[in-house]
Amino acid sequence: MSRLVLQRIYYPVLTLGYGRRIGVWVRGCGRACPECISPELQSYEGRETEVDEITRMIPEDLRVDGLTISGGEPFDQPEGVAQLIRWFEERYGGDILVFTGYTYEELAASENKNIQEILERIAVLVDGPYVASLNKGIGLRGSTNQRLIVRKFSERYADAELWERRVQFIGEGDSLIQIGIPPSGQKQ
Ligand code: SF4
Repeated sequence: MSRLVLQRIYYPVLTLGYGRRIGVWVRGCGRACPECISPELQSYEGRETEVDEITRMIPEDLRVDGLTISGGEPFDQPEGVAQLIRWFEERYGGDILVFTGYTYEELAASENKNIQEILERIAVLVDGPYVASLNKGIGLRGSTNQRLIVRKFSERYADAELWERRVQFIGEGDSLIQIGIPPSGQKQ
């Protein structure tokens, strides 16, 4: 039974991948990018939630095109993320997009079996830390050092870098937060 330190789960996410997606944001990231727009997600402290508990929250009759996982750093919680991905793939198919601050090469060199399973199963990886000076307004990538690595659903993502950046506003606690990549701003 795996757990995740979760910040939020939201549906429908319309701004971070193809179609109507389930979005999952985990807590915890050790990179401390100087202009991270989600510094509140850098702390690993938070309530650990069983992945089964997370998946039970999702009604079976949703129209879901894909899953987007961001944070925080998803690959710092590989066991829980791998379980979530397995569940999603079985129910909705394999359009799974993960944002990470690691490079693909760093992840590929890991001996962690869950990290390797995640890399095998996902459709799209956006890799590398956010660098504000390289934010050029490209679709799905916060900055141009990041790469859009498409392994599956290549027809869906063929022109993703040309997609117009958009954000959605959602309520969280007593705040309104934005999800998506701002037209001139940072990855969320
Ligand atoms: S921008 Fe991304 S990689 Fe950098 S500190 Fe924030 S969450 Fe971590």
